[in-house]
Amino acid sequence: MSTTTDLQLTEDLSDQMHQLYRHLHAHPELSMQEHATAELIEQRLTGLGIEHFRCGGTGVVGVLRNGDGPTVAFRADTDGLPLAEDTGVDYASTDVPVMHGCGHDTHVAVLLTTAQLLAEAQDAWAGTVVLIFQPGEETAAGAKAMLEDGLWEKAPLPEVVLGQHVMPSLAGTISYSSGDAMALADSWKVTIHGKGAHASQPQDSTDPIVLGAHMITRIQTVVSREIDARRAAVVTVGTFHGGLKENIIPATAEFTLNVRTFDPAVRDHVLGALRRIISAEAAASGAPEPTVEVLSTFPRNYNDPGATAALVERFRQVLGEENVVEIEPLMGSEDFGALGAAVGVPSVFWMFGGHDAATLQGEGPLPVNHSPFFAPVVEPTLSTGVRAALTAILSRVGG
Ligand code: ZN
Ligand code: ZN
Repeated sequence: MSTTTDLQLTEDLSDQMHQLYRHLHAHPELSMQEHATAELIEQRLTGLGIEHFRCGGTGVVGVLRNGDGPTVAFRADTDGLPLAEDTGVDYASTDVPVMHGCGHDTHVAVLLTTAQLLAEAQDAWAGTVVLIFQPGEETAAGAKAMLEDGLWEKAPLPEVVLGQHVMPSLAGTISYSSGDAMALADSWKVTIHGKGAHASQPQDSTDPIVLGAHMITRIQTVVSREIDARRAAVVTVGTFHGGLKENIIPATAEFTLNVRTFDPAVRDHVLGALRRIISAEAAASGAPEPTVEVLSTFPRNYNDPGATAALVERFRQVLGEENVVEIEPLMGSEDFGALGAAVGVPSVFWMFGGHDAATLQGEGPLPVNHSPFFAPVVEPTLSTGVRAALTAILSRVGG
C-alpha cells in the first residue's frame, strides 16, 4: 500500500509550490470571474500531461488516469473576495479591492502540487483522480454551475469526493467533524411594498418601515419559539434600508437575511415560517405581498461517517495523533457538499490550520477567513495541505 511517505515533497517542488502560492495570492479574482486563475491551472495541468476540460465557465477539471483502480475526486475552490488586503505580506494583492481572503489560493497551490506528485509517481498508485478546480464558492454559484454544465457526465464518477479548507487553527494540524460538517445557508432579499406619504399625513401611507420593523422583530421568534432547542438554527437580518429623509414616509423598504441550519427539515421549517411571517405581516398592514428574492443557497456539507472514520485513521498515522483534532460542526457554509450529493456519492471535507502559535496566542482579534488581515503562514500550512490531500487520495487509490 502506498502512503505519503513514498511521495515526498522535494525542496525544489516545495519552492515551486511557494512561488505558485504567492503568485495566486497576488492575483486574486472574484467569484465566477477566475479567468487568469483558470488559464494558469490549465497550463499547469497541460505541463503535467493531465487531460483537462473547462466546466461551469471558469471551472477546470483535470482527469489523471493511471490504469485500473478506484476513482476519487478532489476539489479545490479558486475564487477571491471583494476585500482590500491589509496583511502587509510582500506578495499581497495590489488589485484593490480583491483579496484571497479565504485562503482559496492555498487550496489551488496544494492541489496542483499534489497532482504533480501523483503524476510523477504513477507506479505508487492505480486508478483515476478527478481534480476539480471549482470557481465561485463564495457566492455558492460555482458547484451549481459545474453540475449544471454536466460535471459528472464529463468526468468519471468517483467513489468519494474529497476537499479541504484552510482555517485559523494551528498550521500543521487538521480538524474534522463526522456527519454534519458545515451548515446549510440561505440568503434572501425582501422588498416591502408600502405607500409613500408626507410624514405629517401617515393616514395616507402604508408605512414600510413600521411594517418592516414588525417583520424583523417577529422573524426573531422563529428560532426561539418554533424550533426544538436541541436543533441548531440561526436567523440574522443583516441589512435594513428604507427612506431618505425624516419627514417623508417612503414607498418601499428592503432588508436581507441569512439563515443557517444543519438539518434539512429544520431548514424547511425556518424558511416556511419566514415566508409565512413576511406574508402575514404585510397583510396585517394592508400592504401588497412583499417580493422575496433568493440571493444564495449553500447546500448541506455532510461528512459520510464511515468514510470519515477511515480517513481520520490514516490522517493520524501520517500526521500524528495529536495533529488530528475532532471539532464541532461549523456554522459557516460551503457549496462543496453539492458535488457529491448531486450523484449520491459520499464526501469528506476537513480543515487544515494556517496560523503559527505566535499568531494564535497573540493579543488582539485573531485574523480569520474573510478578514483583510488573514495571511496563513506559508509553512507548514501548504505542506500539511499536500500531505493531507495525498493521504486522502492514496487511501483510495494507493493499492
Ligand atoms: Zn470564504
Ligand atoms: Zn473559503
